[in-house]
Amino acid sequence: MPLVHVDLAERSYDVVVENGILSQAGEKIAALRAGAKAAVISDQNVDPHHGDALAASLKSAGIEASRHVIPAGEASKSFAQVSSLHSELAQARHDRSSFVIALGGGVVGDLAGFVAATFYRGVPFVQIPTTIVAQVDSSVGGKTGINLPEGKNLVGSFHQPRLVLVDPEVLRTLPSREFREGFAEVIKHAAIRDASMLDELAQLDPDSPDVPADLIARNIAIKARIVEEDERETAGTRALLNFGHTIGHGIEAALPYGELLHGEAISLGLRAAIHLSKKRSNLAENGAQSVLQLLKHFRLPVVLPEKIGSDTVLQRLSRDKKFNAGAIRFVLLKGPGDAFLSESVTQDDLTEAIEHLREAL
Ligand code: NAD
Repeated sequence: MPLVHVDLAERSYDVVVENGILSQAGEKIAALRAGAKAAVISDQNVDPHHGDALAASLKSAGIEASRHVIPAGEASKSFAQVSSLHSELAQARHDRSSFVIALGGGVVGDLAGFVAATFYRGVPFVQIPTTIVAQVDSSVGGKTGINLPEGKNLVGSFHQPRLVLVDPEVLRTLPSREFREGFAEVIKHAAIRDASMLDELAQLDPDSPDVPADLIARNIAIKARIVEEDERETAGTRALLNFGHTIGHGIEAALPYGELLHGEAISLGLRAAIHLSKKRSNLAENGAQSVLQLLKHFRLPVVLPEKIGSDTVLQRLSRDKKFNAGAIRFVLLKGPGDAFLSESVTQDDLTEAIEHLREAL
C-alpha cells in the first residue's frame, strides 16, 4: 500500500493511496481518534457517487456523522458558504470534540479545511480527495481558503489535515475533461522535481481513468517534500509549486469563469514558462519537448484563444506579483526535474511569452 508520510513535527500526517480505500475509510479514521463525531462535507456531484460508501464505512466503524452537501463549483469557496456550514454544524450539535471530513475536489477540500480551521477555533480534519488535482496537490500541504470578489484564495488559513485518504478508483466517475485537466498539476510536479516521471506519464492512456496508485503516491511525495521544506511558503521552496501558474492564473482570470478549467489555463501557463526557461535559463529543446508533448498527450490546450488579449492577461496576473527593478520572481527550469526561482524575467518577457502562446505547437 503506497503511503506518503508528511513530516511536519506535531502536524505530521500520512497520505494513504490505495484502490478501494474509501470503503475502509471508517476504520482508518477511527484509528486516529480525531473526535467523537464527524461532519462530512461534500458537493452535489460527488455525494451521489461516493457519499453513501463513506457514510456506510463510518457507521460500521462506529463513527457518528452528519452530511453536508454544497453546490459544486468555485463559487462555493465563499464567506456565505462558510457561514452556512458553520451554522449547519452548530445545528447538528457539533462542538470542539467533533472533526470534519472533506469528500470532494479542491473546492470542497479548501472550503471544508477553512471551516475546520475556524469552527470552535479549529477542529481536526481529514481529506478524501476525489479529483486528480485534489489527490496530488490540494489535499496535501494545509492551505485552506476561500475567494473574495477581488480575487481567488485571498482569505484562508494553514490547517494541516490529520490524514489524507486517496482512492484512485473514485476518479472513474469524473467526466473526461475534468479527469484530463488534472494532469496539468501532475506534469508540473514531475517537471519541477522528477524528470523520469515525465517518461512514465507519457505511457499513460489519457482516456483510461485507471491511474496507478504508485504513480499518484510518487507525485504526491514531490509536493510533500517541498511542503516539508517550506510549510508556510516563507523560504522560497514552496514557490516552486507555482511553476506555470503566474501566466496560467492571468489567463484563467482573463476569461469568464468556467470557460477554461483551472488545469487547462495552467497548461498554457506551463507552455509559457517553458518558453521563458529556454530564453532565460538555457532549457534545451529536448527537455522543453518532454513537457510540451505531455500536455498534448493529455489533450490540454497549448494555444491561447484569439479573443484573449495579452494586455488583459498581464493585468490579471496575481496581485502579489511585483516587479523589482523591472524583473519578477518567476519559476523556470534549468532542465526537466530541475526548477528554480529566477529574478531575471522582465515584463517584456512575459508579454513575449504570452504572444508565443498564439503559435501552433
Ligand atoms: P473541483 O473541486 O471544482 O472539482 C471539479 C469538478 O469535478 C466539480 O464539478 C466536482 O463536483 C466534480 N467532481 C469532483 N470529484 C468527482 C468525482 N470523483 N466524480 C464526479 N465528479 C467529481 O475542482 P478541483 O480541480 O478538484 O480543485 C480546484 C480547486 O482547488 C480550486 O479552488 C483551487 O484554488 C484549489 N487548489 C487548492 C490548492 C491548495 O493547496 N489548497 C492547490 C491546488 C488547487
